[in-house]
Amino acid sequence: MVTLRCGNADRLGVLGGTFDPLHYGHLALAEAGRDQLGLGCVLFVPAGDPPHKPSQPMSSAQHRGMMVAMVVGDYEGYTLSRADLDRPGPHYTADLLAILRHTYPNAELYFLMGSDSLRQFPAWHHPARIVAQARLAVLRRPNWEADVQALEWAVPGIREHLVWLEGAPLDISGTDIRRRVREGLPIGDLVPPSIEAYIHKHDLYRDQQGR
Ligand code: ATP
Repeated sequence: MVTLRCGNADRLGVLGGTFDPLHYGHLALAEAGRDQLGLGCVLFVPAGDPPHKPSQPMSSAQHRGMMVAMVVGDYEGYTLSRADLDRPGPHYTADLLAILRHTYPNAELYFLMGSDSLRQFPAWHHPARIVAQARLAVLRRPNWEADVQALEWAVPGIREHLVWLEGAPLDISGTDIRRRVREGLPIGDLVPPSIEAYIHKHDLYRDQQGR
């Protein structure tokens, strides 16, 4: 019999992202959720085809999935979910959550996100469907303050589904890491050693203009 990973978790964290590459900001978000909300498990869900970043070129799903897989294996309770990688796009969070609710019918879902994502949330596909299926657990990012009143106007009822995570905002982003690699600057403080080695081994981000 195959045991479902995270099948026993009462509370399940879902961290969707491009993970291009996975960095310490993602890990801080997962850890804040796990520790402060008592999440039994955190699913890292790399996007196949992110609908809100249509113009941004991305590393292949294989590279991004591999980078997540390498790191989550080092953490108890963190798991790679291929839910978006293995289905045809577009990959909307509302659909992902419906799939996960079906897979984990007994778990309460917490969608983990930075405050930049929360600011943009009203423009996501069917935001009301998302908050009907999961709580939004939000960690602040530098220079991204969310206006809860404005969010409430855009998505009525969202306030009740918001959980703020404590933690010093970390000025780390995939965009900055890719730029640093392109410019030959160090990234050792921003990503785990295995990710740094992977980026260099596969020559990622070196000659991708505008990324
Ligand atoms: P990019 O710069 O390429 O747009 P990113 O660094 O924002 O990427 P994503 O993989 O797109 O990373 O982010 C996935 C989720 O993780 C998003 O909800 C994002 O807000 C959150 N996140 C990423 N970095 C941080 C951080 N430093 N602090 C808090 N949340 C973060």
